[in-house]
Amino acid sequence: MEIKKVGVVGCGVMGSGITQVCAQSGYQVIVSEINDEALNKGLASINSFLTKGVERGKVSQPEKDATLANIKGTTDIKDFNDRDLIIEAATENMDLKKKLFAELDKICPEHTILATNTSCLSVIDMAMATSRPEKVLGMHFFNPVPLMKLLEIVKAIATSDETLEVGKSFGESLGKTIVIARDTPGFIVNRIQLPFRLDAIRMLEAGIATREDIDTALTLGLAHPMGQLALQDLVGLDVTYAVTSAIYEETKDAKFAPPNLMKKMVAAGWLGRKTGKGFYEYEK
Ligand code: NAD
Repeated sequence: MEIKKVGVVGCGVMGSGITQVCAQSGYQVIVSEINDEALNKGLASINSFLTKGVERGKVSQPEKDATLANIKGTTDIKDFNDRDLIIEAATENMDLKKKLFAELDKICPEHTILATNTSCLSVIDMAMATSRPEKVLGMHFFNPVPLMKLLEIVKAIATSDETLEVGKSFGESLGKTIVIARDTPGFIVNRIQLPFRLDAIRMLEAGIATREDIDTALTLGLAHPMGQLALQDLVGLDVTYAVTSAIYEETKDAKFAPPNLMKKMVAAGWLGRKTGKGFYEYEK
């Protein structure tokens, strides 16, 4: 099956990046949001990412124009009624995702493949909210989507081989390198990396070192491109909180229990770059 028309649900941190790479690879993309304000914010972030790309000589002006011309925004999910593939990148919440999958199942043609960008939630649970579980899979992109090469594809127990193959070749057409994971909490990368990131927060909480020294130690001592606290601000504390809580619920493994400092920061709205304050401060 050939994918031509793509839908993306949610135009936040990930949805905007996914929309951009799909449009940049020549697909016609419709991206949805809950209201005009959220949609305009997401579309503006795509524009700004491409503008910076032009300034740095990474993207040509015609490529930027062509990418933007391939993107249409909507606040009406019914506009997805002619899509071949839909990638759901809405807030990490199972009830919301199940509701969206049930709705998409009703709206979309029979051939449409439904993918979720969830970081850790059960793909089969979303698939069972539809009448087409064999056409549902996980497509877990990494942040920032236009720069990160990896795409974890998640094969749920009911995902057909054909759906998996379509997902793989679509991901490759975006220039991504594909790894396949089973439908388990955290898949491959988050399962390994989250406890490590949470340990950096626990270390700060215990007063063992300053935020700067923890991040400097990780970048210079382990050759990581950025420190775990800075990375956490990029990802969004609310996202990691939801992800690690869900993995903890499922595995009861203490290494995934969210640190108290993280809970308090989420309660205070210190979510990282997107709110101007996390472990570090940012200009809005
Ligand atoms: P985000 O909060 O930046 O964006 C989520 C967006 O979804 C919001 O703009 C919200 O308004 C929108 N939304 C909520 N309900 C919606 C609906 N019914 N219809 C349309 N839009 C709706 O979060 P994010 O970081 O982009 O995360 C989105 C998904 O991607 C989550 O499942 C998350 O676990 C996953 N993910 C996040 C990262 C990351 O680094 N942030 C990495 C990989 C995967």
